[in-house]
Amino acid sequence: KTVIHWFRRDLRLMDNTALHHAAKEAAQVIPAYVLSDWKSQHGWTGSTRQQFLCGCLDSLSKNLETLSSRLILRCGQADVELERLIHETQAEAVYYNRDYDPYGREMEKKLQEVCNRIGIPCHSYKDRVLHEADEVLTGSGGPYRVYTPYSRNWLGLNKTASLGKLTTLGQAPDPAIKSLPVPTLEHWQLPEATAILPAAGERAARERMKTFIENRTLHAYAQKRNIPAGVTTSRLGQDLRFGLISIRELHERCMAAAALATTPDARTSIETYIKELAWREFYLAILWHYPEVFDEEFAPEFRGMPWPGSDEDFQTWTQGRTGFPIVDAGMRELLATGFVHNRVRMIVSMFLTKDLHCHWRLGESHFMQHLLDGENASNNGGWQWSAGTGADAAPYFRIQNPWTQTKRYDPDGSYIRTWVPELKNVSAERFMDPPKDNRAIAPGYPLPIVDHSTERDRTLAIFAKHRGK
Ligand code: FAD
Repeated sequence: KTVIHWFRRDLRLMDNTALHHAAKEAAQVIPAYVLSDWKSQHGWTGSTRQQFLCGCLDSLSKNLETLSSRLILRCGQADVELERLIHETQAEAVYYNRDYDPYGREMEKKLQEVCNRIGIPCHSYKDRVLHEADEVLTGSGGPYRVYTPYSRNWLGLNKTASLGKLTTLGQAPDPAIKSLPVPTLEHWQLPEATAILPAAGERAARERMKTFIENRTLHAYAQKRNIPAGVTTSRLGQDLRFGLISIRELHERCMAAAALATTPDARTSIETYIKELAWREFYLAILWHYPEVFDEEFAPEFRGMPWPGSDEDFQTWTQGRTGFPIVDAGMRELLATGFVHNRVRMIVSMFLTKDLHCHWRLGESHFMQHLLDGENASNNGGWQWSAGTGADAAPYFRIQNPWTQTKRYDPDGSYIRTWVPELKNVSAERFMDPPKDNRAIAPGYPLPIVDHSTERDRTLAIFAKHRGK
C-alpha cells in the first residue's frame, strides 16, 4: 500500500507521529511538502524565516535520502497539490500532523473533503503540542482565559511518550513523480536575508536541544532567564516552530534532567522551563478557541480603542533609533539575528504600544516578518499581553519603564553595547535614565524620541476614556 505523508510544521524524521504511523501502516510512504506560492511581499513572513525554511527543507530532503526515500516538493494550495499527488501515486491514504492556525485548519478541512471525494482515509495526529486545546478545559468544560489555572491543569495531565527513530519509509517515490528543487529565496522573489541565522535542519536543532540541557543552561534557567545578555534561555523557539525537534522528546529530556538534578535551584529551573512550554500551548489554545484574536482585542472592552501613534515613530522603532538604548538594542538584535530575548520582546512591545501609542497589530506584523520563531499564536499572545488587551494580559495600567527595566535586567549594559555599537564606550549608568542635559550620550546616537512619564499618563488617559464610554 502507498500512502502520502504531508510535511508541515514537523520537518523531522525523529518522533514524528503521523510519519511514524504512515510508515507502520503502509509499504511505501511518499513524503511531500507543499510550498506557498505568494511572491515578493507577505505581511506575515520575510526573508529571515523563509531562508531558515529553505535550510530545513534541504536538510529534510537529505535525511530522507539516507532512508532511500525522496522528498516530493510541490507549490500551490495544499489541498489542490495533494489531490494531484494522490492521483499520480495512486495513494490509498494521507497522513499529517495537525496545525492549529486558522489557515492550517482551513487547509486540513479542504484536504479532508478531497479525500472524502476520492474515497480514501485522511489520518490526522496530535504532534505539535503535548496537549491540544480540547484536552485542557475548565471544570465546566470551557476554555481557560487565564494562564495559571490552565498551566496547573496542563502540568497534571499525562504526557504521551515519544516514538523514537524511524527506520524505513519503503521504496522511494517512482522517478516519474516530479518534484520541484529545494527552494531558495528566489522562489518567493525575496531579497537575501541579512540576519545571521543558526544552522537549519533536524540535526542542528537536536544539537541545540542537547547542548541546552547538557551544558546546564536549563539548570540555571529560573535564575538567569530574564537576563538578555549572553545565552540564558534555550533558543529553541524556531526548532519548535518548524518541528525540527519533538515537544515530547524535549519534555522527556527535561523530566530526565529533573530526576537527576541535585540542587533545589536546578529543579526549580526545570519546572520553570516546562511552564514556559505550557505558555506556548496556552496561546495555541487561545487561538484555537478564540480565532477572533487574530483580528481584534481578546478583551472586548478594548475593541475599537484609538491608537494615535504616528507612522514616523513606528518606523523609528523598527530601525532601533528611538534613543532608548534597551529598545534600540532589541530592535537591532531582531534585524541582525531574527531573535530577541523574551524580556526585551516585552520591553519593546510595551514601548511601541504604551510610549508611542502605535497599534499592537503593527508590531505584531513587524515581528512576524523578522522573527525566526515567528508563530501566530505566541506572537499575537505576546503582543496582546503587552498592549494590555489579551488573555491574562499585563493590566493596562501596569506600564513598564524602559529605564528601570534596563537597570534590573542589563545592569552592566553589555546587552545594549552588543547591539548598539555607537554606545560601546558609554558607561552603563547612562543607559538607566534619560540624558539630563538633553545632550546625546554618544555621537550619532539620537535623543529619546518621547518622555516616558508623559506618554505613560497619556496611555492611562486613553484607556480610561475608552473604558468609561
Ligand atoms: P525559552 O525561554 O527557552 O522558552 C522555551 C520555549 O517555550 C520557547 O522556545 C517557546 O516555544 C516557549 N515559550 C517561552 N516563553 C513563551 C511565551 N511567553 N509565550 C509562548 N511561548 C513561550 N514566541 C514564539 O515562539 N513565537 C513568537 O512569534 C513570539 N512572539 C512574541 C512576541 C512578544 C511581543 C512577546 C512578549 C513574546 C513572544 N514570544 C514568541 C514568546 C517568547 O518571547 C519566545 O518564545 C522566546 O523568547 C523564545 O526564545 P527561547 O526559545 O530561548 O525561549
